[in-house]
Amino acid sequence: MSPFPRHDFRDLTLYAPDRRPVAVDLSDNTNQWGTHPAALERIRAATADDLARYPELYADKLRDQVSETFGVPRECVATGCGSDDVLDSTFRAVWGAGAFISFAAPTFSLVEPFARVNAMEARAVPWPDALEEPERLLEGGPALVYVCRPNNPTGEAAPEFWVRQLLDLVGEAGPLVLLDEAYADFAGSTLVAEAPAHPRLLVARTLSKAYGLAGLRIGFAVGAPETVLEVEKSRGPYKITRLGSEAGAAALADADGWMAAAVAECIENRQRLSEELAARSLTPARSRANFLLFPSLSGSARIDALALRAEGVAVRPFSEVPGMGDALRVTVGPWPLMETFLDALDRVRTR
Ligand SMILES: *Cc1c(COP(=O)(O)O)cnc(C)c1O
Repeated sequence: MSPFPRHDFRDLTLYAPDRRPVAVDLSDNTNQWGTHPAALERIRAATADDLARYPELYADKLRDQVSETFGVPRECVATGCGSDDVLDSTFRAVWGAGAFISFAAPTFSLVEPFARVNAMEARAVPWPDALEEPERLLEGGPALVYVCRPNNPTGEAAPEFWVRQLLDLVGEAGPLVLLDEAYADFAGSTLVAEAPAHPRLLVARTLSKAYGLAGLRIGFAVGAPETVLEVEKSRGPYKITRLGSEAGAAALADADGWMAAAVAECIENRQRLSEELAARSLTPARSRANFLLFPSLSGSARIDALALRAEGVAVRPFSEVPGMGDALRVTVGPWPLMETFLDALDRVRTR
């Protein structure tokens, strides 16, 4: 007999995007301007205690800063080892016999595996259908509805009124709506402030993108205290390191405006890159995130991504995106990097 009785794990695989080293990596939407200097400063000042002692049980320093930055009570803030961990813990918290998750597709690639490791099915509703009729996401009575806003990989953000419509349909007794706002810093639109008052809304955020802290693994979520409590129970104590809690809080305070400046430049470059792609008949989806999704050159995103990699630039391939077909997702960064990317693209196009 197998010591691993989880038959449902059998066809799960490890997350394995192409992470081979490359000169310019624009494949994972991390911050191409670097990291928040306030976080780096705190880490450089590390003491032996920072490593030898256990951290706070539930990352109170980080929660206090989230509370201050967003004007929400501390008991409305859950944290996690990256927002991936927050999503995973939230999925686990809503589990019950026969429970399933619904989501608008295409979206964040980890939603399906996280549902499955938590013994749930993830049911996809095509984005255009979900946008037209949000009730489609509630069909069959899911335990949780996952919505990514702005959405990865398209970059598009569902309108705020659409989210409100969905929340109205859910009411006080429907499924939990998990709004993944990993890219909200680049969109200038967030529902974080409203989440504490809504018993069925949890808004997840990360410091991995706008704050440049993907390596530190800091995520958090804001919701009603009773929702947050369940997520914290599901996730368990000690998941945020001592340095993570304090460096993350320092970054989130953004006292020197580093994050705000990087985001402003990113938004400017997003527009400029979008125009450059359109001029090459590769018009991207309208993005409010720090990346652009544009149609494949050859019809095969995988082949294009390999060709670009051979030219020293990594992007992420997606196959069969509705309305676009095979497509490539490129992270927006400082303009010299965008020029390197465009040069590589032009070499591949004219081969
Ligand atoms: C990058 C990303 C995350 C987050 O990641 P962590 O690094 O785990 O905080 C979450 N959701 C989406 C949609 C993302 O693209």
